[in-house]
Amino acid sequence: MLKSSYNLGTVWGIPIKIHISLIIILPLLAIQFQSILIPVLLFASVALHELGHSYVARKKGAYVQEIMLMMLGGVAKIADMPKRPSDEVKMAIAGPLVSLAIGGIALALAFLLGGILTRTLFSVGVINLSLGLFNLIPAFPMDGGRVLRAGLAIKKGRIEATRIAAGVGKVCAVLFGIYGLTHGQPILVLIAIYIYTTGSKEYRMVLMQEGQYAGPFAQPREPRPSDNLNAEVSPPPYARHKEDPFDQYVKRAKNYFGKWFKS
Ligand code: ZN
Repeated sequence: MLKSSYNLGTVWGIPIKIHISLIIILPLLAIQFQSILIPVLLFASVALHELGHSYVARKKGAYVQEIMLMMLGGVAKIADMPKRPSDEVKMAIAGPLVSLAIGGIALALAFLLGGILTRTLFSVGVINLSLGLFNLIPAFPMDGGRVLRAGLAIKKGRIEATRIAAGVGKVCAVLFGIYGLTHGQPILVLIAIYIYTTGSKEYRMVLMQEGQYAGPFAQPREPRPSDNLNAEVSPPPYARHKEDPFDQYVKRAKNYFGKWFKS
Protein backbone atom coordinates (compact mmCIF):
# COMPACT_ATOMS: atom_id res chain seq x y z
CA MET A 1 0.00 0.00 0.00
CA LEU A 2 1.21 3.50 -0.82
CA LYS A 3 2.05 5.46 2.31
CA SER A 4 2.83 9.17 2.65
CA SER A 5 6.21 8.36 4.24
CA TYR A 6 8.54 5.42 4.87
CA ASN A 7 10.77 4.69 7.84
CA LEU A 8 14.51 4.70 7.05
CA GLY A 9 15.73 3.87 10.55
CA THR A 10 16.06 5.20 14.05
CA VAL A 11 18.80 7.34 15.65
CA TRP A 12 18.76 7.95 19.43
CA GLY A 13 15.21 6.60 19.39
CA ILE A 14 14.15 9.23 16.81
CA PRO A 15 12.50 7.71 13.71
CA ILE A 16 13.97 9.09 10.46
CA LYS A 17 11.41 9.03 7.65
CA ILE A 18 11.44 9.77 3.95
CA HIS A 19 8.40 11.60 2.59
CA ILE A 20 6.77 10.51 -0.68
CA SER A 21 7.53 13.97 -2.20
CA LEU A 22 11.25 13.27 -1.87
CA ILE A 23 10.93 9.74 -3.28
CA ILE A 24 9.20 11.26 -6.33
CA ILE A 25 11.76 14.04 -6.83
CA LEU A 26 14.92 11.93 -6.22
CA PRO A 27 15.06 10.54 -9.80
CA LEU A 28 14.66 14.11 -11.12
CA LEU A 29 17.51 15.34 -8.93
CA ALA A 30 19.58 12.35 -10.06
CA ILE A 31 19.04 13.41 -13.69
CA GLN A 32 19.87 17.03 -12.87
CA PHE A 33 23.10 16.12 -11.03
CA GLN A 34 23.80 13.26 -13.45
CA SER A 35 24.45 11.12 -10.38
CA ILE A 36 22.30 9.24 -7.88
CA LEU A 37 25.04 9.41 -5.24
CA ILE A 38 24.99 13.22 -4.87
CA PRO A 39 21.23 13.62 -4.16
CA VAL A 40 21.48 10.73 -1.66
CA LEU A 41 24.46 12.40 0.05
CA LEU A 42 22.55 15.70 0.00
CA PHE A 43 19.66 14.25 1.96
CA ALA A 44 21.94 12.27 4.27
CA SER A 45 23.54 15.65 5.04
CA VAL A 46 20.10 17.16 5.69
CA ALA A 47 19.35 14.28 8.10
CA LEU A 48 22.61 14.93 10.02
CA HIS A 49 21.73 18.64 10.13
CA GLU A 50 18.34 17.80 11.68
CA LEU A 51 20.01 15.43 14.15
CA GLY A 52 22.14 18.40 15.25
CA HIS A 53 18.98 20.36 16.10
CA SER A 54 17.40 17.28 17.70
CA TYR A 55 20.41 16.55 19.93
CA VAL A 56 20.32 20.03 21.49
CA ALA A 57 16.50 20.06 21.63
CA ARG A 58 16.53 16.86 23.68
CA LYS A 59 19.27 18.19 25.98
CA LYS A 60 17.03 21.21 26.63
CA GLY A 61 14.12 18.98 27.60
CA ALA A 62 12.14 18.99 24.34
CA TYR A 63 10.66 15.86 22.80
CA VAL A 64 11.66 15.01 19.23
CA GLN A 65 8.88 13.00 17.62
CA GLU A 66 10.50 12.33 14.24
CA ILE A 67 12.74 13.63 11.48
CA MET A 68 11.08 13.79 8.08
CA LEU A 69 13.10 14.20 4.89
CA MET A 70 10.93 15.98 2.34
CA MET A 71 11.31 17.55 -1.09
CA LEU A 72 11.63 21.00 0.51
CA GLY A 73 14.14 19.85 3.13
CA GLY A 74 14.36 18.27 6.52
CA VAL A 75 11.79 18.70 9.26
CA ALA A 76 12.36 17.79 12.89
CA LYS A 77 9.00 17.64 14.64
CA ILE A 78 9.64 18.86 18.14
CA ALA A 79 7.22 19.18 21.05
CA ASP A 80 7.82 21.59 23.95
CA MET A 81 10.53 23.54 22.16
CA PRO A 82 12.72 25.53 24.53
CA LYS A 83 11.42 29.10 24.82
CA ARG A 84 14.42 30.63 26.61
CA PRO A 85 16.26 32.75 24.02
CA SER A 86 19.68 31.27 24.86
CA ASP A 87 18.31 27.74 24.45
CA GLU A 88 16.60 28.64 21.18
CA VAL A 89 19.87 30.05 19.81
CA LYS A 90 21.75 26.85 20.75
CA MET A 91 19.07 24.65 19.17
CA ALA A 92 18.82 26.75 15.98
CA ILE A 93 22.59 27.06 15.50
CA ALA A 94 23.32 23.34 16.11
CA GLY A 95 22.05 22.26 12.66
CA PRO A 96 24.15 24.73 10.63
CA LEU A 97 27.19 24.02 12.87
CA VAL A 98 26.93 20.28 12.08
CA SER A 99 26.69 21.11 8.35
CA LEU A 100 29.63 23.54 8.41
CA ALA A 101 31.78 21.05 10.39
CA ILE A 102 31.04 18.16 7.99
CA GLY A 103 31.63 20.52 5.05
CA GLY A 104 34.99 21.68 6.39
CA ILE A 105 36.18 18.15 7.19
CA ALA A 106 35.06 16.78 3.81
CA LEU A 107 36.83 19.58 1.91
CA ALA A 108 40.01 19.15 3.97
CA LEU A 109 39.97 15.39 3.29
CA ALA A 110 39.34 16.01 -0.42
CA PHE A 111 42.51 18.12 -0.63
CA LEU A 112 44.59 15.88 1.65
CA LEU A 113 43.64 12.43 0.35
CA GLY A 114 43.13 13.02 -3.36
CA GLY A 115 42.56 10.00 -5.56
CA ILE A 116 39.22 8.48 -6.50
CA LEU A 117 37.42 9.88 -3.45
CA THR A 118 38.23 13.53 -4.29
CA ARG A 119 35.12 14.20 -6.35
CA THR A 120 32.69 12.69 -3.82
CA LEU A 121 34.38 14.34 -0.80
CA PHE A 122 34.44 17.68 -2.59
CA SER A 123 30.73 17.41 -3.43
CA VAL A 124 29.86 16.47 0.17
CA GLY A 125 31.92 19.46 1.33
CA VAL A 126 30.21 21.95 -0.99
CA ILE A 127 26.74 20.54 -0.22
CA ASN A 128 27.25 20.82 3.55
CA LEU A 129 28.86 24.27 3.49
CA SER A 130 25.98 25.61 1.37
CA LEU A 131 23.43 23.82 3.59
CA GLY A 132 24.96 25.45 6.68
CA LEU A 133 25.28 28.94 5.16
CA PHE A 134 21.85 28.92 3.43
CA ASN A 135 20.08 28.05 6.66
CA LEU A 136 21.83 30.91 8.46
CA ILE A 137 20.04 33.48 6.24
CA PRO A 138 17.71 35.28 8.72
CA ALA A 139 14.55 34.10 6.94
CA PHE A 140 12.40 33.10 9.92
CA PRO A 141 11.41 30.27 10.45
CA MET A 142 14.72 29.11 8.97
CA ASP A 143 17.59 28.64 11.47
CA GLY A 144 19.11 32.10 10.98
CA GLY A 145 15.68 33.64 11.53
CA ARG A 146 15.28 31.71 14.80
CA VAL A 147 18.63 33.05 15.98
CA LEU A 148 17.45 36.57 15.05
CA ARG A 149 14.14 36.07 16.90
CA ALA A 150 15.91 34.81 20.01
CA GLY A 151 18.31 37.76 19.94
CA LEU A 152 15.44 40.24 19.60
CA ALA A 153 13.40 38.46 22.28
CA ILE A 154 15.95 39.35 24.97
CA LYS A 155 15.16 43.07 24.59
CA LYS A 156 11.74 43.19 22.96
CA GLY A 157 9.98 40.13 24.33
CA ARG A 158 8.86 37.03 22.42
CA ILE A 159 5.80 38.48 20.65
CA GLU A 160 7.46 41.60 19.22
CA ALA A 161 10.61 39.59 18.37
CA THR A 162 8.57 37.04 16.42
CA ARG A 163 6.66 39.81 14.61
CA ILE A 164 9.90 41.48 13.46
CA ALA A 165 11.64 38.17 12.58
CA ALA A 166 8.61 37.00 10.58
CA GLY A 167 8.63 40.36 8.74
CA VAL A 168 12.34 40.00 7.84
CA GLY A 169 11.55 36.40 6.83
CA LYS A 170 8.84 37.62 4.44
CA VAL A 171 11.24 40.06 2.77
CA CYS A 172 13.78 37.21 2.34
CA ALA A 173 10.99 34.95 1.02
CA VAL A 174 10.02 37.52 -1.63
CA LEU A 175 13.69 37.84 -2.69
CA PHE A 176 14.05 34.02 -2.84
CA GLY A 177 10.83 33.88 -4.88
CA ILE A 178 12.01 36.49 -7.39
CA TYR A 179 15.43 34.79 -7.68
CA GLY A 180 13.81 31.37 -8.10
CA LEU A 181 11.43 32.62 -10.79
CA THR A 182 14.09 34.49 -12.77
CA HIS A 183 16.70 31.70 -12.49
CA GLY A 184 14.46 28.73 -13.27
CA GLN A 185 14.52 27.23 -9.76
CA PRO A 186 10.94 26.15 -9.01
CA ILE A 187 11.84 24.45 -5.71
CA LEU A 188 13.35 27.69 -4.39
CA VAL A 189 10.01 29.35 -5.21
CA LEU A 190 8.20 26.67 -3.17
CA ILE A 191 10.64 27.24 -0.28
CA ALA A 192 9.88 30.99 -0.53
CA ILE A 193 6.13 30.32 -0.31
CA TYR A 194 6.74 27.98 2.63
CA ILE A 195 8.81 30.60 4.52
CA TYR A 196 6.27 33.35 3.77
CA THR A 197 3.28 31.39 5.08
CA THR A 198 4.93 29.51 7.95
CA GLY A 199 6.45 32.67 9.44
CA SER A 200 3.01 34.26 9.82
CA LYS A 201 1.58 31.00 11.17
CA GLU A 202 4.26 30.83 13.87
CA TYR A 203 3.62 34.47 14.77
CA ARG A 204 -0.10 33.69 15.29
CA MET A 205 0.90 30.64 17.34
CA VAL A 206 3.13 32.75 19.61
CA LEU A 207 0.24 35.21 20.06
CA MET A 208 -2.03 32.33 21.05
CA GLN A 209 0.57 30.88 23.42
CA GLU A 210 0.96 34.27 25.08
CA GLY A 211 -2.83 34.67 25.13
CA GLN A 212 -2.93 37.78 22.95
CA TYR A 213 -4.50 36.53 19.75
CA ALA A 214 -7.86 38.11 19.04
CA GLY A 215 -8.20 37.49 15.32
CA PRO A 216 -11.27 36.16 13.50
CA PHE A 217 -10.40 32.55 14.30
CA ALA A 218 -9.75 33.07 17.99
CA GLN A 219 -12.56 30.89 19.19
CA PRO A 220 -12.33 29.13 22.53
CA ARG A 221 -11.58 25.43 22.15
CA GLU A 222 -10.13 22.49 24.02
CA PRO A 223 -6.33 22.17 23.84
CA ARG A 224 -5.11 19.55 21.39
CA PRO A 225 -2.08 17.31 21.84
CA SER A 226 -0.58 18.81 18.67
CA ASP A 227 -0.61 22.36 20.04
CA ASN A 228 3.00 22.34 21.14
CA LEU A 229 4.33 20.55 18.09
CA ASN A 230 6.67 22.93 16.30
CA ALA A 231 8.60 22.05 13.22
CA GLU A 232 12.30 22.83 12.87
CA VAL A 233 12.63 23.08 9.12
CA SER A 234 15.90 23.22 7.24
CA PRO A 235 15.55 23.56 3.50
CA PRO A 236 18.52 22.60 1.34
CA PRO A 237 19.83 25.22 -1.10
CA TYR A 238 18.64 24.16 -4.51
CA ALA A 239 21.15 25.52 -6.95
CA ARG A 240 20.29 24.34 -10.41
CA HIS A 241 23.42 22.33 -11.06
CA LYS A 242 23.59 20.83 -14.51
CA GLU A 243 26.64 18.93 -13.36
CA ASP A 244 27.87 17.86 -9.96
CA PRO A 245 29.31 20.50 -7.62
CA PHE A 246 32.89 19.30 -8.23
CA ASP A 247 32.83 19.95 -12.00
CA GLN A 248 31.00 23.20 -11.46
CA TYR A 249 33.54 24.64 -9.05
CA VAL A 250 36.56 23.43 -11.00
CA LYS A 251 35.11 25.21 -14.05
CA ARG A 252 34.50 28.37 -12.02
CA ALA A 253 38.03 28.34 -10.63
CA LYS A 254 39.45 27.94 -14.15
CA ASN A 255 37.36 30.87 -15.42
CA TYR A 256 38.40 33.01 -12.48
CA PHE A 257 42.12 32.36 -12.73
CA GLY A 258 41.96 32.40 -16.53
CA LYS A 259 41.01 36.10 -16.40
CA TRP A 260 44.05 36.84 -14.24
CA PHE A 261 46.37 35.01 -16.61
CA LYS A 262 45.14 36.99 -19.61
CA SER A 263 45.42 40.46 -18.06
ZN1 ZN B 1 18.27 23.70 10.43
